[in-house]
Amino acid sequence: MTDTINPPQYKLSDYPPPRVPNTPILSFGYFLGGRARQVSSVLDVGDSVLLTSGRDAIATALKEIGVESKSAKVLLPAYNCKVMVEAVLGVQAEPVLYRIHPDLTVDLDDIRAKIRNGVEALIVVHYFGFPQQLSDLRKLCDETGVSLIEDCAHAFYGDFDGSPPGAVGDYAIASLMKFFPIYDGGCLVSRHHPLRNKPPGSGGLRFEIKAIINILERSVEYARLRPINWLLMPLIKLKDLVWRRTKMSNKPLEMDAVGPGAADGGYGFDPSWLKVRISRISELIFKRSSALRCTNKRRENFRYFMDAFDNISGCRPIFTKLPDGVYPYVYPLYIDNPEFVFPLIKMQGVPMFRWEDVENGVCDNASLYSQHLLQFPCHEEIREDERDWICDTVTGVLTSNLR
Ligand SMILES: *Cc1c(COP(=O)(O)O)cnc(C)c1O
Repeated sequence: MTDTINPPQYKLSDYPPPRVPNTPILSFGYFLGGRARQVSSVLDVGDSVLLTSGRDAIATALKEIGVESKSAKVLLPAYNCKVMVEAVLGVQAEPVLYRIHPDLTVDLDDIRAKIRNGVEALIVVHYFGFPQQLSDLRKLCDETGVSLIEDCAHAFYGDFDGSPPGAVGDYAIASLMKFFPIYDGGCLVSRHHPLRNKPPGSGGLRFEIKAIINILERSVEYARLRPINWLLMPLIKLKDLVWRRTKMSNKPLEMDAVGPGAADGGYGFDPSWLKVRISRISELIFKRSSALRCTNKRRENFRYFMDAFDNISGCRPIFTKLPDGVYPYVYPLYIDNPEFVFPLIKMQGVPMFRWEDVENGVCDNASLYSQHLLQFPCHEEIREDERDWICDTVTGVLTSNLR
């Protein structure tokens, strides 16, 4: 490639849907993998409440702390999933961004400089399932009277120094759709404080039905649930028909409100969902899912990606080891030449994304990673042939776009 060639210009809507599911998808495997060995999860921390999304769990944590006014500030990392910022703004608080180091650990000096009057909570993220060191942060929060929230959206399962993820923070949150083949789900837990904002109420029959249909629909789309796929297909078609008819005679806005934005892949925050519990079907599936299969497969896929991208030009790993007790959410890969590589991979239907919406000018590492750090799913429902195809496709693009 020479410098005279311009990078391809695509909009997000130009990309085809991923050929391999981005997130877990329902198959019979979830119920067959064995539940004998206990893997500790965020839910082992203590008191818990199940909501429809991780962002709602963050907002609820902030409410528990009493952060609900314009003068309250919440510290969160500059490298973030946009919805974290939305959740803070959603309770009328002011987000203050702190820096992270290239290895994704928090910049304690920057936090020390920014913890001042008005800061009431600090959110720390266990990126991609790898634990942050929390002892210094815990001490700093204790000294300053700031509440610590552990964002375990990427670390539902884990053994962090003998404790489940989320045990150190005053509160911890997780996003269940990232670890289970469900429509909606988030949880808020605390080892140190009783939870006052509960129980949340039902989302209503239409929401419950939508959750069931959505879970099955995704599964049919990717031809999982093999033996009964042919049975489900006509049902999904029928639903499309009914849905379209009601949509035509109804206000489309009302239809959108049947499910939370989080469950439909949106980045918005709607406070009305704070009062709603997880759907029955999502709760049922996630409580019945095999922890063993989920944790083993994720580690296996992660290791496979680690090996496959070792010594490939044009990229470098963020993590070179997979420590015991880590059950990763995705495989993060740093690419040298994102202007070409990102769109070319995406155009081939490889499941992959990046956090593009980070605010520039706060943290150079966050700005860099918003473009260069790609997240590849390593969830339990990715099959071996799909894993091979992802690696071959990405390696092909990387090696033909060296500069
Ligand atoms: C996805 C995510 C959330 C929010 O989870 P939702 O269930 O999508 O609302 C929070 N924090 C981090 C780091 C995330 O990646």
